[in-house]
Amino acid sequence: MSRLVMKFGGSSVADIERIRNVARHVKREVDAGHEVAVVVSAMSGATNKLVDFCRELSVLHDAREYDTVVASGEQVTTGLLAIALQTIGVEARSWQGWQIPILTSNAHGSARIEGIDASEIIKRFKERREVAVIAGFQGMYPDTSRITTLGRGGSDTSAVAIAAAIKADRCDIYTDVDGVYTTDPRVVPKAKRLDKIAFEEMLEMASLGAKVMQVRSIELGMVHRVRIFVRSSFDKPEDIDPHSNQPPGTLICDEEEILEQQVVTGIAFSKDEAQISVRQVEDKPGVAAAIFGPLAEANINVDMIVQNISPDGLTTDLTFTVPSSDFEKAKATIAKAQAQIGYGRIDSATDVTKVSVIGVGMRSHAGIAAKAFKALAERGINIRAITTSEIKFSVLIDAAFTELAIRTLHSLYGLDKS
Ligand code: ASP
Ligand code: MG
Repeated sequence: MSRLVMKFGGSSVADIERIRNVARHVKREVDAGHEVAVVVSAMSGATNKLVDFCRELSVLHDAREYDTVVASGEQVTTGLLAIALQTIGVEARSWQGWQIPILTSNAHGSARIEGIDASEIIKRFKERREVAVIAGFQGMYPDTSRITTLGRGGSDTSAVAIAAAIKADRCDIYTDVDGVYTTDPRVVPKAKRLDKIAFEEMLEMASLGAKVMQVRSIELGMVHRVRIFVRSSFDKPEDIDPHSNQPPGTLICDEEEILEQQVVTGIAFSKDEAQISVRQVEDKPGVAAAIFGPLAEANINVDMIVQNISPDGLTTDLTFTVPSSDFEKAKATIAKAQAQIGYGRIDSATDVTKVSVIGVGMRSHAGIAAKAFKALAERGINIRAITTSEIKFSVLIDAAFTELAIRTLHSLYGLDKS
């Protein structure tokens, strides 16, 4: 017998028929003798609608009331799934975040989970073989007893946190894709599903643009060593053997669990980047501080940074990227600090893509990035900026070359499906 968390996203609970389908997936695991906690999202589109309602009333709405409103989507699906389970003879009870309770910080709208008391749920596993159907995305700030939410996509984080709290053997993330791919299959049809991916790699993939899971959920899995299995909810529940230890999907796990480690595991990309170049800044100590200090104060996350050498020893150019959503704010911040920085002009571009190549094997192999630079150059793709770290490197290129660049790199590192 194992203890499992099964998490179902919005598209998996989109309507009553889909909820019935979820119930059959759950029944399969219960019948196999497992103790099961289910975490659900709101029906697809429901959260967007609730967010829009708040915005329509006031752009500057009270974050506590926002949480009250948007947390309601998950309340609906917990109740419906509990009914669906009871209907097919499975003992089940719904739980809201505050009922468990899932305690969080008071950062309404993007709260962090700080503690979960899972004792009642475990007791009911033992005494009644009861499935716990838990609302994802939400928790409670204990000092005020108010409902909080964990940020968009937060039910992944709820699921992993609950898996850690009940010491589950695995946290299954049921979604509309059947696993994690080497890159987005819509861009590269030859992309293949990975059987396993290390926590660190998945964290990079998600942070750098792959939209499979909320970044924080992977961080949490890594810290608490929760094995996470990404799989499809569209498979017919009856077609899956609950006893087989590897149904189709991708296991996110410790590096040590992966025997055949490739040098490159995957390629992620993000179009949500913007480039800003500050031209003709004086080449003297303190200039970087004068530029990046005000950006940090404005809470703007700077990602790639390139400083050119100054041919004349007098002035230089400094290029960096920021999230597109902060682009206007970043430009305004730099403009405001013009006197302190002292620069000629600002150039910028929003039609850029950051392409990132990821793999823990890079730690022990030299020349991985150099190979990419050469291949991109041969395709006439200009690199605007580069960053590297231990297990990944990223290049910023013109958005028009996104597909060509990703396909080129995907073949270059032998990731194409054979
Ligand atoms: N329903 C929430 C959202 O759409 C949480 C989630 O689905 O993970 O962001
Ligand atoms: Mg999601």
